[in-house]
Amino acid sequence: MIAHRPPEELLLGYASGALPEPIALVVASHAALCPETAREIGRLERLGGTLLDGLAPAELKSGALDRALAALDGVPAAAPKPIVTPAARALLPAPVWPYVKGDVANIAWQRRSADVDTADIVVDGGERRAFLLRVRAGRPVPRHTHRGLELTLVLKGAYCDAANCFERGDLQVADTTMDHQPVAQAGDDCICLVALEAPIWFTGPIGRLANPFVKL
Ligand code: ZN
Repeated sequence: MIAHRPPEELLLGYASGALPEPIALVVASHAALCPETAREIGRLERLGGTLLDGLAPAELKSGALDRALAALDGVPAAAPKPIVTPAARALLPAPVWPYVKGDVANIAWQRRSADVDTADIVVDGGERRAFLLRVRAGRPVPRHTHRGLELTLVLKGAYCDAANCFERGDLQVADTTMDHQPVAQAGDDCICLVALEAPIWFTGPIGRLANPFVKL
């Protein structure tokens, strides 16, 4: 049973295809681990389909169908499915597999501090991105607030902030109103899939000095 699930408006955004890729990837990855969220997304998608069915069909410009069929002729056959290693299956939800070509060996970890590593998964050209975050067992992420949405999906281990604890499958949604310091639980490194709309802003006494230099 997953304790922390995304709010309805985020699921609605996902079901309608309105979310940018980094955010959508984290929602889809959570849904792959949470049957309740997957069911809710299915319900919203069906609802959207019903609404669309009720609209009068727009008239196709003449030749539109011919052009669409001609375009299909040029589409290459579907690429073979990548092989996914057991380690990748154990750690990563299925929506992430294509981004690492099915193998955790392709995760490009970068050391950000003694306690924190990150590996980019999607960078969308602006400041939005999705990345894997690895925090050493028992160690904190520097205290910070947010300059947009932050979605954190736990994949391994667990972490707590002052208000809640999060385990595999849990999704924490934070925004500009929240200031927190997540701490990985003892025993196991905590690995999360994170989406950010903009870099976080450190608010601790030492972290504040790092803001101009460190982007996380
Ligand atoms: Zn945060």
